[in-house]
Amino acid sequence: MCEGNAVGRRDLLRFGAGVFAAAAFAAAMRPAYAAEGAPTSLTSDQALAELKAGNERYMSHPEVCSLDLAKQREQVAGHQAPWATIIACSDSRVPPELVFGGHGLGELFVARNAGNLVDTATLGTVEYGAAVLGSPLIVVLAHTNCGAVKAACDVVLKNATYPGAIGTMIEPILPAALAVRGESGDYVNNTAKRSALRTAERLPAASTLISGLVKDGKLKIVAGIYDLQSGAVTYLS
Ligand SMILES: [Zn+2]
Repeated sequence: MCEGNAVGRRDLLRFGAGVFAAAAFAAAMRPAYAAEGAPTSLTSDQALAELKAGNERYMSHPEVCSLDLAKQREQVAGHQAPWATIIACSDSRVPPELVFGGHGLGELFVARNAGNLVDTATLGTVEYGAAVLGSPLIVVLAHTNCGAVKAACDVVLKNATYPGAIGTMIEPILPAALAVRGESGDYVNNTAKRSALRTAERLPAASTLISGLVKDGKLKIVAGIYDLQSGAVTYLS
């Protein structure tokens, strides 16, 4: 979708340069539950500067994408009417606006958290998307090789424990991890699919607003899984 090179080769090369130094640090510091590979070498201030620079690019050169973002911004500044609500993982490789084809402003109503789960905040968010904004579709979007799902699988397989609120956060994935244990295929991806389906199936039971809209034929709920390798979203049933 994007014709220009919004980030720029210089930025990409700069990111690459810090990898080796960061790897040595990460080998000592990285906790066992972290994904493989080195974390970013950017400091907090550098990361904030990157966000600011990116936002400036977005404002000053919206033509780098064929989306015509300046025009879209003008059109939706006073009103939004998103046509799909997406519950997606916070994983940096799964931004719904991009993986669904480069949708711009005012189109997708997105709730993201690690593991694409539905807690009270997310439930209220999707209720708002459906009941207030009138979005006729909810997609629970899992993805392959999900860290949150893998963490839940490790609880089942290895009795793993996690610091902070991470353990509590992934608890809703455990029923899916237990249900597909022993099935053929990739355990983490099987769990991600089952968990997304379970989340989608439970939404109407969790919300009379949502179940009412579904009953009236005004809302459909689907689950899908995004493949990190191929980029394909496969819908589940
Ligand atoms: Zn994930």
